[in-house]
Amino acid sequence: MSKKLITAALPYANGPIHIGHVAGCYLPADIYTRFERMRGEDLVFVCGSDEHGVAITMKARKEGVTPQEVVDKYNAQISDAFERFGIRFDHFSRTSRPIHHKTAQEFFRKLYDKGLFIEKETDQYYDEEAGQFLADRYIVGTCPVCSNENAYGDQCEKCGSTLSPTDLINPKSALSGSAPVLKKAVNWFLPMDQIAESPAFKEYAKRVEGWKSNVKGQFKSWLNEGLQPRAMTRDLDWGIPVPVEGAEGKVLYVWFDAPIGYISATKEYFEQQGNPDGWKAYWEGDAELIHFIGKDNIVFHSIIFPMMLMEHGDFVLPTNVPANEFLNLEGNKLSTSRNWAVWLHEYLDEFPGKNDELRYTLTSIAPETKDSDFTWKDYQLKVNSELVAILGNFVNRVMVLMQKYYEGQVPGGVSERHTELLAEQAKQTAQITKLLESYRFRDAQSEWMNMARLGNKFLADLEPWKLWKTEPEKVAGILTDALNICARLAILGEPFLPETTQKLKQQLGLSDKFTWADAGKAELMGAGHQLGAPFLLFTNIDDEIIEKQIAKLGQMTEAQNTPTEETNPIAPQKAEIVYDDFAKMDIRAGIILEAVKVPKADKLLQLTVDTGLDKRTIVSGIAEHFNPEDIIGQRVSVLVNLAPRKLRGIESQGMILMTETDGKLFFVDPGEGTTAGSGIS
Ligand SMILES: [Zn+2]
Repeated sequence: MSKKLITAALPYANGPIHIGHVAGCYLPADIYTRFERMRGEDLVFVCGSDEHGVAITMKARKEGVTPQEVVDKYNAQISDAFERFGIRFDHFSRTSRPIHHKTAQEFFRKLYDKGLFIEKETDQYYDEEAGQFLADRYIVGTCPVCSNENAYGDQCEKCGSTLSPTDLINPKSALSGSAPVLKKAVNWFLPMDQIAESPAFKEYAKRVEGWKSNVKGQFKSWLNEGLQPRAMTRDLDWGIPVPVEGAEGKVLYVWFDAPIGYISATKEYFEQQGNPDGWKAYWEGDAELIHFIGKDNIVFHSIIFPMMLMEHGDFVLPTNVPANEFLNLEGNKLSTSRNWAVWLHEYLDEFPGKNDELRYTLTSIAPETKDSDFTWKDYQLKVNSELVAILGNFVNRVMVLMQKYYEGQVPGGVSERHTELLAEQAKQTAQITKLLESYRFRDAQSEWMNMARLGNKFLADLEPWKLWKTEPEKVAGILTDALNICARLAILGEPFLPETTQKLKQQLGLSDKFTWADAGKAELMGAGHQLGAPFLLFTNIDDEIIEKQIAKLGQMTEAQNTPTEETNPIAPQKAEIVYDDFAKMDIRAGIILEAVKVPKADKLLQLTVDTGLDKRTIVSGIAEHFNPEDIIGQRVSVLVNLAPRKLRGIESQGMILMTETDGKLFFVDPGEGTTAGSGIS
């Protein structure tokens, strides 16, 4: 059996993880890994944070901290979110670790010593005031295409043009604001054009033929456009020093060092296991290397990294790169700068115990072949009408009837449908296995849910609750057959919904030691087996929860870090309204009389407000910004005729108006001398 090394794209340590990242590679990698583990495959699953590159230094400048502080913060946040979400890496490393620096430098040095790199002198912008070369992103100027004055050296974000720093009109350094000068700098280039022509690469390209069509498509289009030598070093002060004489002040290109992180993470894992040479077997010989990534990383994992591995010579080449396309959110691209995202750590905080609900939804819409869209309404629908209504309902019916008729002890026997039921389950099991093997997780999960549908239909057809009165002897076989479907669901569902299947096994009184092959057995629970106590696997998600999440999208708060360089995000003016629209709103001056935290809601305060009309309860999402005791007596503006709505079971009768600047909230003060009840117009 060959060993398998499974990797998921190294998340960039300049911001938190959102659901687009999760759906793109971490969840599929986790599903695949759990499946292969259950099949007894000898595998290691590694990942780690990518902590080098210009985006880190930009973020540090923006936040006024050091790059090290940036990567420490986000590495901790990211690895914590993965852990809580149940992405089960064997090892999660960091590219800032010494073992990685050493591994990457040795890698570079080996290619350098064999004379692979082209040493080339190019003109690069240099900031004389700051005394350093400028990365493309650090140069700002006027776009030659659309005249946007804030275009970057690599791209104009207004018109979308790809640029070179020398294309910019009136270039300025983002570091000092001064005009940069062109200065000669030596860098080392990977001759991708030559390597692409080598027999080894052509042989490797045959392998790509068998990969997913989106990956193959990008691979071919890059080759067809003609590859150019690409610089593997940068004039920057944050990164891994280039291990060559005369390369002071230069670091390895982040896309040179990052994929080597998969190697160093494997090394580090085995070192920690007390087996420092153990990693080699996963990178040599007939070991299989599988990279789970998003589509923006395809060129690096299907072309550049394989070229590096090939030229180095000690390592295997990727066996497969099952990349996904992008996930959108409510019809729009996910955007960290506009906070148009569902952040994993926030989901985990706000939906405790509901990891599998998110896993299920993301897998059911996985962007495996084309971009797909996450909506909160769809999430609610998937939970309520599939997890609750199909799977949860089936399991619950079986469990409740078992308690009622047999006190939870499996009666044994078979139903009149036994043979066809088993044949159908065998077909489904084979299909799920085949789909998982071919990285089609979306269809695999859907086929798994079909098994729960099969169970529901079986019960609905035979109606054991009716037979109990007329032909009770038939009920034993029906429920035993149904229980075996539940057990098979528990085994086959583990890769998709690990927490739910754990709960299911607990209810069924099954041990955790099932292998994938066990799902092929006809009888998983026989007569006399004692079940555990029944409980609901899922609960419905209410409209209120969904509305709150939708309302949150696009709002900027301090807690939500904005990893890009965008500054001063003033929202554009909203669509025009007529005076009558405004006149409908009854806004009054008010005074906060009481304020208390809403239990188990981090963001909510329950306020009692004197509106002049009455003293009423208003629930306001300001708990992260104000202490309750500090705002008693605060003058506020209140929208008093907003339809009441329930938040965490408390009816809120109006809305307090707030201003938000740089993530801070301020009360809209009607002004000194105003009294409660005065109208605002
Ligand atoms: Zn432009």
